[in-house]
Amino acid sequence: MNGKEDDDDRDDFSPATLRELAGRSGYVCAFPGCRRLTVGPSEDRKSGLSMVGVGAHITAANKNGPRYDKYLSPEERSDVNNGVWMCQTHAKLVDDNASKHTDSELRRWKTQHEDWVFRRVANGPTHPHAGVSVLRITNIGPFQERAEMKLGRVNVVVGDNSSGKSTVCQTLAAFSGEPLFSQFAERWRFGAALEGDASIETAVVKGDDMTTVKLTERFRPFDSASEVEEDEEDEDPSEEQEDGEAAGSDDVKVVACHFQIEVNGAISSSWPTSLYPTILLDEELRGSPNPSFEQALSNLARQFRLPEDVIWNSLRDDFFVSSGYACKFLRTGDRKIEIALPGRSFYLPPGSLSTSEEWRIILALVTKLCTLDRRPAPWLVIVDTTVSGRLDSEGKSIMLRMLGADDNNGIQLVVCLTFQDDVPVARDLFDEKWLGAKNVGRLMVHSFL
Ligand SMILES: [Zn+2]
Repeated sequence: MNGKEDDDDRDDFSPATLRELAGRSGYVCAFPGCRRLTVGPSEDRKSGLSMVGVGAHITAANKNGPRYDKYLSPEERSDVNNGVWMCQTHAKLVDDNASKHTDSELRRWKTQHEDWVFRRVANGPTHPHAGVSVLRITNIGPFQERAEMKLGRVNVVVGDNSSGKSTVCQTLAAFSGEPLFSQFAERWRFGAALEGDASIETAVVKGDDMTTVKLTERFRPFDSASEVEEDEEDEDPSEEQEDGEAAGSDDVKVVACHFQIEVNGAISSSWPTSLYPTILLDEELRGSPNPSFEQALSNLARQFRLPEDVIWNSLRDDFFVSSGYACKFLRTGDRKIEIALPGRSFYLPPGSLSTSEEWRIILALVTKLCTLDRRPAPWLVIVDTTVSGRLDSEGKSIMLRMLGADDNNGIQLVVCLTFQDDVPVARDLFDEKWLGAKNVGRLMVHSFL
């Protein structure tokens, strides 16, 4: 940082360099989570400014300072690249704990902070919505080139068969970790490096922060040679395991995997799956080879990370009254239930319902659980065409109204539809909030605020 006394050995920043550092930092402290504004008016100073920010040296200005790098030239040492802007408190804290706060850590803070400042300048003070804002897919399924999809709060993805709707659904869902990551990896052989160079990436917004997570296929697994041998004998090279120690924590630790994880551009051993609470509604949910309502509830419990009994106990009349699908429930035993559909007085076991009726009940249940069980980030509810295709236009309308309701229900919605004719259903519901439509490969993506 700036020396107070004249010291010939110090490679201090010039006033111009300090101005550049401060400006690139938005005059805001770059220490993670601080974001203190470091400049303000002064009544008495000649400059009219009170500056409480400091251009801190990433590697020290002289040889007795913290993180000193003897290989740098004096010019490099006083260059803007060797500085990070912080408030006085954090500049001192960082220098007093140089063994804890390494130069590479300081560089990462600086990059992340400048990225945050850039987005504030580009987008204004707040993001339009929380949740996943961008999805990028490279070399998976129909997306042989890098495809980028910007997402709003409600999104309707329209396209013909095999144009990539399920790829989008499964890719988005993969970021939530297990069980949906394995489903994705097996389906697309992700990590097997058969095609090569496949990657998936999202940016997720929570409060003022944006986190990017990128998973890239690698031709070689991580460094350990013994792991390589073990893996290559494995039947399924895409198989990945959960670290037992990480169970119960937010992060899923992936070991012996064949892909590289980057979080905010830095290589990582895991990613914050808690930022991606996700429910994927596709035909897989009802299980195979004998799909059933009971199996769907069991799989829903895994996705919600709730005990199965909680799901069963949620099948209560009062849960469904306001859902647009007011069915009634009769418990006939442990995990046994009979259901009376709207307008009918008799009860039927789930096996006697049509698939479309089962899906309506599941959709209402998902809406209610997402609303009641808030997570740090909004629930991402993804509805594939194997579900939406089962619903008539009234069913689609109810689904969009329930899941896309703008009453701060904590849901971000991605619904896939096969026919453009279905889009007006969504347009009518969210007309004033339509952000626009964009082509992504052969898909058309309509976004709503
Ligand atoms: Zn600070």
